Amino acid sequence: MIGSIKIESVRGKLWLLFGLNVGIALMACFTLFCYESLQQRETARRELSTEAQIIAESSTTALTFWDQRAAAETLAMLRGNSNVIEAAVYDRSNRLFAQYRNASAASGAPAFRPRSTSPYFENGALLIFEPVRLKNEKLGTIFIKSTMDDLFARLWRYAAIMCVVLIIALGVELLLSSHLQKLIAIPVTELSAVAQRVAVENDYSIRAGRHGDDDIGKLIDSFNEMLARIETYELKRKSAEESLRESEERYSLAVRGANDGLWDWKFSTDRIYCSPRWNQMLGYPVTETWSDSDGWFRLIHPRDRDRVRSALAAHREGKTPEFACEYRMRHRRGAFIWVLSRGIAVRDSDGNAVRMAGSQTDITEGKVADPLTGLPNRLYFIDRLENSIEEAQRRDRLFAVLFLDLDRFKLVNDYLGHAAGDELLIGIAARLRSSIRGTDAGFGSAASVVARLGGDEFAILLNGLSREDDALIVADRILKQMSGPFQVGGRQMAASVSIGIALSTSANTPEDLLRNADTAMYHAKTGGKGRFELFDEKMRDSALARMEIETDLRKAINEHQLMLYYQPKVRLDDQRIIGYEALVRWNHPKRGLLSPCEFVPIAEDTDLILPLGRWVLKEACRQMAEWHKTIFCDPQLTVSVNVSFKQLTGTNLVEDVRDILAETGLNPESLTLEMTETTIMANAETALTTLSRLKEMHVALELDDFGTGYSSLSYLSRLPFDTVKIDRSFVRELGTGIEKSDIVKTILELAGSMNLRVVAEGVETVDQIRELSALGCKYVQGFYFSRPVSSEVTAAVMRKGENPKFAYWGIQTLNLDSGIRGGAEGKVTPAISVGRKPVPSDMSVVRRIENAEVAV
Ligand code: C2E
Ligand code: CA
Ligand code: CA
Repeated sequence: MIGSIKIESVRGKLWLLFGLNVGIALMACFTLFCYESLQQRETARRELSTEAQIIAESSTTALTFWDQRAAAETLAMLRGNSNVIEAAVYDRSNRLFAQYRNASAASGAPAFRPRSTSPYFENGALLIFEPVRLKNEKLGTIFIKSTMDDLFARLWRYAAIMCVVLIIALGVELLLSSHLQKLIAIPVTELSAVAQRVAVENDYSIRAGRHGDDDIGKLIDSFNEMLARIETYELKRKSAEESLRESEERYSLAVRGANDGLWDWKFSTDRIYCSPRWNQMLGYPVTETWSDSDGWFRLIHPRDRDRVRSALAAHREGKTPEFACEYRMRHRRGAFIWVLSRGIAVRDSDGNAVRMAGSQTDITEGKVADPLTGLPNRLYFIDRLENSIEEAQRRDRLFAVLFLDLDRFKLVNDYLGHAAGDELLIGIAARLRSSIRGTDAGFGSAASVVARLGGDEFAILLNGLSREDDALIVADRILKQMSGPFQVGGRQMAASVSIGIALSTSANTPEDLLRNADTAMYHAKTGGKGRFELFDEKMRDSALARMEIETDLRKAINEHQLMLYYQPKVRLDDQRIIGYEALVRWNHPKRGLLSPCEFVPIAEDTDLILPLGRWVLKEACRQMAEWHKTIFCDPQLTVSVNVSFKQLTGTNLVEDVRDILAETGLNPESLTLEMTETTIMANAETALTTLSRLKEMHVALELDDFGTGYSSLSYLSRLPFDTVKIDRSFVRELGTGIEKSDIVKTILELAGSMNLRVVAEGVETVDQIRELSALGCKYVQGFYFSRPVSSEVTAAVMRKGENPKFAYWGIQTLNLDSGIRGGAEGKVTPAISVGRKPVPSDMSVVRRIENAEVAV
């Protein structure tokens, strides 16, 4: 019932309950009161009726015998009942027979007017008319009137008590009710207000106030506990949300920053989603959609497709933790770009891959660009070369590959430092780029490509040539571009490149084309550097020969195919031989006698120079020691041995020299080690220590090919050299009119001031001797006096010239004596005078010495 009444607050409902309670109590009281009053009335009636019957019984005799006094006495019995106001006895004719009156009764006889034989109420009094019978004969009637005052007084008292009880009860109920309000309604209302605030404000930090340990208290505790949990959960959710949002932001930033394309591939439908950036990367509009994976695979470079497929399959089968693959994809413009694709498969409960999602990064720059120069690298170059080969085959096009190698780059690196080396490479790259005129040498173009293959090697792909000569013209242009000085490490320096050219007609694969160009470059380099060479088949043969030489040379040392030739060094003022330079020869079983130019550079490239050099050193020392023992010469002849840079820096040269000198018994002062500037500069630090240690052993040191390197004499003065050898390129031009004499003169003067002996090498003509002599050069070496000759010829010369004064002339004597063919045999015409002695004016002596080899 209460539930059907629309009161929302608990307090209201409690008050309603209270009201109802009061109503019910009142009603109950009222009903009780009515019932009680009825009961009382009934009792009064019953009592009066009984009394009337007793009086009637007692009056029978009085009426029978008409004894009024007896009747009055009988009525007087009613005195005991104070409620009876008056009573009377009527006779058979309803005349008053006897009467009784209480003091409070009014005077006069009561009227005889019976209404019923049972008592009835009238004017607040109870009346009864009781017939008096004797054996069914009515003798008269008894009348009694009883006042109700007593009854009413009782009823009033009863009502009063009831009211008091009711009021007390209601008061108690009111108290209880308000306590109940306090106990239930207030906390519940508060709780509901808190809940409402939480709902409205979404603030889970609010708490309901505590209200004791009862059920409500427990309810509030639980409510607060629930709020606390929600609050923690909320905080966690918020922080998770926050970090999710942050990570999403980071991810989207990263994606934007990293320029990644995204893809999502559902295997069941083969549907593939590619992000706008993915499309952009490949030159497609951002709105482009790809219906299935086929579209993706079609764009992958045919050569990479299988690799990508198997990487995908491996990850789908769970063999790899992620899919990651670098491959080429065709850009919409036609060229290929390099991408790195990475993805992770999403698996169902059985572990089967249902989809795979990932990213795609354009790695073309990093993959195919050289970080130092920004030029494309080898990978890109090969890629483009492949394209050009396909194109050339399809459309009969001509193109060329240029292989460029920087001359003497190692020297720059070692002498000026790697930073300078890098600077030079950057400068070279810039000039190469600009010399490929009218072509886009960058990435992605179908035109020509300039690339750095690594180290100091560059390559150029020249597409769209109309004839072979075009490639040569470009090569020539590059060489000219390189001729200007470069700014390196704050100073200017010259640099040159050697270029090899291979035409597309020379091979069918990128590797072969590059190798051909490399071979041609090698020829350009050995042919004098700073030049270009066009590849031809002969070069391939010579490259093969080079490889053969390398193989054979390993055997040559052990199988005693090497031998030493000796070339005398002559003192000009008395034309005495002061020593010999030992020069290695290889008596190749198939090719015959090979010049060191044909195998020493190869040996230097392959480290074979180490055993070879050691053999030369030992043989030269052994030979000279033997000559010292067997042939008397004065002054004691020296032997010069050439030392290459690997010997100087790579091995224990000092120990070798010490051991060999000890073993052969050669006086250290009779040994000269020749080395070039390049050899020393390759590792100046080590060189200096090694040279000093050699010097301490009293071994003489000679700087070979002087004038061809970068170093200044003053720098070299810090090195412990005894002699410098002016390179034959300076000597060659002496006496030809071209003024090289100034350089030679300067070298001589400076060397003189530094107490260095100077030898001029490559002296071939009498004019050269004359000029050198005039410039003050005291020592010479060259074909004019003798080509390098075998040890046998050298020994023969020594023996013949027993008088050391005539050692030189003894050569002629030998030749004359042996009667070997020669130009102007025997006729020595001292045409000019150098110092005190005449010197020959033609080459006859030389030829005779050569021929002497045959004779010995
Ligand atoms: P190099 O040390 O400059 O030796 C001198 C070279 O000049 C020799 O060539 C010699 O035959 C040549 N020559 C001498 N006089 C004249 C001349 O008047 N005119 C001309 N045009 N040339 C002349 P060779 O013997 O062929 O040696 C060539 C190079 O091979 C040497 O140049 C040297 O660098 C290297 N070499 C020779 N033997 C050895 C060796 O045992 N060890 C090392 N490491 N290198 C060696
Ligand atoms: Ca030499
Ligand atoms: Ca030399």
